[in-house]
Amino acid sequence: MSKIKILPQNVVQKIAAGEVVDRPASIVKELIENAIDAGSFSIKVVLEKGGIGKIQVIDNGSGINKEDLEVIFARHATSKISSEDDLLQITSLGFRGEALYSIAAVSQVKIETRVKGSEKGLSLEIKEGMKEKVKTVGCPVGTNIMVSDLFFNVPARQKFLKSESTELKYCREIFMAQALAHPEIRFELWHNQSKLLQLPSQKLKERINSLYEIEENDLLAVTFDHQYLKISGFVGKPGIARTRRIKQQLIVNQRPVENKLVYSAVKQSFGSYLPEGSYPLFFLNFQIRPDLIDVNMHPRKEEVKFAVSDLVFRSVQQAITAVLKNQDLIPAGKVYLKKESSVWQFPDQGKTVTNFHSQGKITPRQSQAALHFNASLMMEKKQLPENDAAPIFPPKEENKVFPWEEMKENKDSIFQVALTYLVEIKNEELVLYDQHALHERVLLEKFINQYLEKQQKGEQQNLLFPEEIKLNFEEQEIVKKEKETLEKVGFELEIKEKELLIKAIPTVLKPEELRARFLDFVDSLISNEEIEIKDSYQIDSRTRRTLTFLACRCAIKAGDYLTENERQNLLVQFRKTEERYTCPHGRPVVVKIGRKELEKMFMR
Ligand code: ADP
Ligand code: MG
Repeated sequence: MSKIKILPQNVVQKIAAGEVVDRPASIVKELIENAIDAGSFSIKVVLEKGGIGKIQVIDNGSGINKEDLEVIFARHATSKISSEDDLLQITSLGFRGEALYSIAAVSQVKIETRVKGSEKGLSLEIKEGMKEKVKTVGCPVGTNIMVSDLFFNVPARQKFLKSESTELKYCREIFMAQALAHPEIRFELWHNQSKLLQLPSQKLKERINSLYEIEENDLLAVTFDHQYLKISGFVGKPGIARTRRIKQQLIVNQRPVENKLVYSAVKQSFGSYLPEGSYPLFFLNFQIRPDLIDVNMHPRKEEVKFAVSDLVFRSVQQAITAVLKNQDLIPAGKVYLKKESSVWQFPDQGKTVTNFHSQGKITPRQSQAALHFNASLMMEKKQLPENDAAPIFPPKEENKVFPWEEMKENKDSIFQVALTYLVEIKNEELVLYDQHALHERVLLEKFINQYLEKQQKGEQQNLLFPEEIKLNFEEQEIVKKEKETLEKVGFELEIKEKELLIKAIPTVLKPEELRARFLDFVDSLISNEEIEIKDSYQIDSRTRRTLTFLACRCAIKAGDYLTENERQNLLVQFRKTEERYTCPHGRPVVVKIGRKELEKMFMR
């Protein structure tokens, strides 16, 4: 008997649908693309429950006439191409005629539409895959499509959906990418009845600013003109590079896409302008002859392939190198100098710190950390050993004694090795600590206690001038969510429409480091690093994660010089914590080398 079976229609449908729509965000993408292809200049996206509950896209485009409406839900029904040759010349976003078919296969759909010149609109519902009769209704010109009951008939797919807020995040990313690719179109995004974003018709630079809060001065315009390929758009000054790959958007013939070749060409062009591990910001628009790209290689059209990859690579490099040359690359804004800039003056030379990094090859966050480090070095200068090697022995006011004598006299000395580890000698043991992990552990415990209000509210220092930090939409959302937790540990925050005012901070934070560390903290919350926290604190996991990130971002780093006092202090505080020997990420905080280990090492 034959083992081969032809699959029934409903199974075929679901398989096909699975490739095109895997989560609410992919439906949002298809519907926005259709609205754009219909020539709309205003598009409103309304979501409920992260898109799982409802996705509605309302446009003011061409509308759909009755004959077409009868067939658009059939597979491969498209008005956009009609022959194989057209596949080589695609100028619309859609072309396969699969989106509406796939969406209708896994959800309930209702569509209302009216074409220009027609008096009445039409409505059509598809319920459980069955098309109902087309009715006439009153509605504006354009199309309003509502998708609900997502994956009602594909429980397996439902299981793979993430939380409402994660699905919303994916939808928002898609929305933002489309909004960037079409700054001339008005866009609105709503979620659970509240308006998240409203974008008027704009220029690209304005749109970047509306979406990401990037200072105009931090963007450098890119232009490149070749017969086959025109490049326009912006790159961020190296100083505003981020450690997460965000805010990189390639748009090819108005289509937001991914392409590794372009990413690596941009990265290479930035070369040594960028610190290790960080990604340059870019928004690049390609206008390329349609026959030189393949947009049909990915089921959701998220990637493109270039027929002329060499040309693309070299063009990107040329365009960006030209921009980076001869530029003032120091990022705009007050990140570099605080209002009370005297803090950062050299005590003896009176020079300001900008001299440190006139090359602008480091991020503001790094430079802040470096500035602090350098400044503390300057203050400790007298205490540092003459040679500039890492201080293995504690710097002492009077450097009269030899180290070994000193050790005898003061057996509690704690040494710092490689500016990263602390070494303590205890009778028979050598105890090594990782200074970052140590401080992180101390801070986490402190924050958690404050959160649980074992002590009163966290110790707070008021800032003389509230720190004002511009936040983009995503950052704003996350800070809003965590506001209460942050206030319990000593922050005082005021969230304004586009910025955040920090009025008070926990005493453990140095005001001059606040900005960099706070932004780093927000970054880690957003990038949603999955950390498995091994402790059993009586606290819900989200709060624990927030406090862990905060502790990590506020803690002393590897490379920070610590004075003898600071080392002592740190250990005293550590001993007060419940004995825990791993940092919140599970790496060891303390390592002991006892007599036995030493004997082994020396083969005694
Ligand atoms: P494709 O976009 O690949 O053609 P779709 O399944 O997304 O396939 O859409 C099928 C057809 O329905 C489109 O070709 C278009 O003619 C019509 N259509 C879909 N959405 C809209 C809309 N918002 N406005 C006007 N026409 C639309
Ligand atoms: Mg389409």
